[in-house]
Amino acid sequence: MTETGKQLKLDKLSPRQLMSLDACTRCGECQKWCPVYTLESKEDVTPRAKIKYLKKILKGENSGLFGLFGRKPGPETVARFTKSLYECSCCNQCHFVCPARLDTVELWENTREAMYEAGMGPLPEQKTYCENLKRDGNPFKKEQAHKAEWIEAGLAKGTLTEMPELITDNLAPVLLFLGCTASFDEKINMVSQHAANIMSHAGVRFGILGPEENCCYGKLRRIGDPEFREKAVGNIDQINNLGIETLVTACSGCYKTFKNDYARIGKQNYEIYHLAEYIDLLHRQGKIRFEVPIEGKITYHDPCLLGRHNGIYDAPRRIIAAIPGLELVEMDRNRQYSRCCGVGGGLKMANHDLQEEASVYRIKEAEATRAEFLTTPCPTCYSGLAGAMAKAESPLKIYHLAELAARSIGIN
Ligand code: SF4
Ligand code: SF4
Repeated sequence: MTETGKQLKLDKLSPRQLMSLDACTRCGECQKWCPVYTLESKEDVTPRAKIKYLKKILKGENSGLFGLFGRKPGPETVARFTKSLYECSCCNQCHFVCPARLDTVELWENTREAMYEAGMGPLPEQKTYCENLKRDGNPFKKEQAHKAEWIEAGLAKGTLTEMPELITDNLAPVLLFLGCTASFDEKINMVSQHAANIMSHAGVRFGILGPEENCCYGKLRRIGDPEFREKAVGNIDQINNLGIETLVTACSGCYKTFKNDYARIGKQNYEIYHLAEYIDLLHRQGKIRFEVPIEGKITYHDPCLLGRHNGIYDAPRRIIAAIPGLELVEMDRNRQYSRCCGVGGGLKMANHDLQEEASVYRIKEAEATRAEFLTTPCPTCYSGLAGAMAKAESPLKIYHLAELAARSIGIN
C-alpha cells in the first residue's frame, strides 16, 4: 500500500511485460547509451535499475499474486524509483541496444499509469502540468481561442502567403494538424506558417481546425495520466467526423500519439503523415521543386518520436539531399542511435536543467561534424535545441526543416 492507501496494480502491465522484468540480465548495455545516465552517472537512473526497483515494489505490493512474494518496499525505495522512472525522456534508446530487446518505453509508460493511479507518481511539476493541460486544452496556459494567432502574426509579417481555411468550412480532404507548440509558441509558430505555405504552393486542398484543434494530449500518456484515453477518444471522434482522407501533423509528438497511441484506442479513418514525410511525398510527386540553393554543410537531428519510435529516417534526409547547395554531414550518433535532446517524456517539466544539459550535449555532437547548420523536423526538439544554443555558446545556426524546404522552394 502507498501513502494514499492505494496499491500499485499489476493489471496495467501485460503478462508479457511482467515476464520481461525477469528477462533483464543486468548486462548494463542500456546504461552506456542512456542520455540521462550520461549526464547523471547514477545507477538509479539506468533502465536496469528501474526494472530492479519495479520488481521489488511489485513483489512487496502484490504478495501472493502471480507467485510474487517480497517485503513491502520502504518509502526511500519508492521515492528513488519514482524519481528515476520520471526523469526519463522515453527516448527508446534502451530498447534499441538491449540484447533482450525489452520494450522499455511501453513498460515505463504503463508503469507510470499504474503509479499515477496509486498516487505514487508523477513528480509534482508533471502533475501540475497535466492538470493545467486538462484544464486549458493546451500546455501553454492559453485560451484555445488564441490557437490560430500564428495566422494573424504571419499575415502581418508577410511570412504567411495565404489565409488557411477552416476545414469545417472548406471540407478539404487533408487536415493540417499543427499541434500546440507550433501554434502557441511565438518562437516556433513559423513552422505552422511554412507548413501552410508549402501546402498552398503545392496546390493541396487542405484545411485547419484553428481554435477547434485540441491538444493531442500525448503528454498525458507519456506521464501516465489515465484520462489520456478519454481525451484520445474525443479527438478520434472529432477528426473521424470531418471525413478527411489524410492528416498531416507538424509535430512529432502529435505524430507518435496519433500513429501509435490512438491506434490502440480506436479506428482512425484517415492516413497519418508527419510534415517531413508529406513534404518529401509532394517533392517526389513533382508538386514542389527545390530550386533556390542554400549553400553549406548541415547536420540532422533525428527526433526520437519519428526515428526510433516510428522508423522515419529517410524522408527528412531525402529533403536535405534534394535542396541544392546543402551537404549533409551525419553526427556520430544518428538514426536509431541518435542521442535524445532531452525534451520528451515529461523530462523537460521534471528537470529543466537536465533537459537543457541534454540539448547542449547534442549541440556539441552537432558541432563536432563541423557543419554550419543544424536541422530537425520536430518543433519540440527545435525548441529544446534552439533554447540551449546560448548556453552551448554554439556557432551553429539552427533551422526547422520546413523553413529550409520553404526557402529552397522560393516561398519566402
Ligand atoms: S540492456 Fe536490457 S538486459 Fe541489459 S541491463 Fe539493460 S534492460 Fe537489462
Ligand atoms: S528511454 Fe531513454 S532516457 Fe529513458 S531509460 Fe531508456 S535510454 Fe534512458
